[in-house]
Amino acid sequence: MCEFCTQHGEGKKWYLAMENYSRDLLDQEERRKYAAEFLNGFLNRVPPSIKQLDKIRKTPLMNLARPILIHNQKQDHYGQVVPMEDVEEIFKIVEGAVRLPCVCRRVTTGNMNARYCYGLTLDKQLFDALDDSFSLEFLSKKEALESIRKLDREGLVHSVWTFKTPFIGGLCNCDQDCMAYRITHARRDYPVMFRAEWVANVSAGECNGCRLCMRQCQYGAIRYSSNNKKVVIDPTACYGCGVCRAVCREKAITLSPRESVQEAAGMW
Ligand code: SF4
Ligand code: SF4
Ligand code: SF4
Repeated sequence: MCEFCTQHGEGKKWYLAMENYSRDLLDQEERRKYAAEFLNGFLNRVPPSIKQLDKIRKTPLMNLARPILIHNQKQDHYGQVVPMEDVEEIFKIVEGAVRLPCVCRRVTTGNMNARYCYGLTLDKQLFDALDDSFSLEFLSKKEALESIRKLDREGLVHSVWTFKTPFIGGLCNCDQDCMAYRITHARRDYPVMFRAEWVANVSAGECNGCRLCMRQCQYGAIRYSSNNKKVVIDPTACYGCGVCRAVCREKAITLSPRESVQEAAGMW
């Protein structure tokens, strides 16, 4: 399990611990203020930060900056990929969800109303502190889950996010327009999220080599062998999001606990 499970989950999956979604936590450490400022200021704050990062990312300074950046990120706003079955478990804990525009896509695509983010708290005080561009949609658990299942079929990767760790305030649904994807995976600057507690595997006996799953994978973890007419998943590249399963008509892909897969154990 990832270090957050040890620190914030009493050895269980930290994002399935009810207290990490609690109003008590939100009331502490000015989390409401932090969350509102994080969202309201994202569009103005992030592009200059990326410009600053660009200046040092290919220099020796980055080796000094990386541990500090990771430490700060883990304290304030850190994520973890979760497959659909864990999303279902999370919705047994929370009361409902509020859907709001994705702040990353505001930066990367200019779309101010791409509605892929789900707030997992129903806190009126927090909503009142958000600026008018965050038109909120209140969803029941059933509505939220139905819409997230649809995103799963489209290949969008789910992840939970802290607002001053360990409080979990949001569930995101991302592709390569995501800033977290870019910083962690595409640019490999520094991790801002953990991989899932899971790793995918293909059953060679079931796979018909259709390659539909390859298009779903944001992480390039699936490889096709022309010789075998089958795909294989590289466990060291797999983030464990599970969205490849949604398009596999043969049900050839399954998830296993990361710890049980030797090559991927401990890879976060
Ligand atoms: S993490 Fe994903 S859903 Fe959340 S704000 Fe970024 S791109 Fe949007
Ligand atoms: S979608 Fe399923 S059957 Fe098709 S290549 Fe992928 S694992 Fe094999
Ligand atoms: S191979 Fe791994 S990373 Fe790629 S879609 Fe499947 S579960 Fe996600």
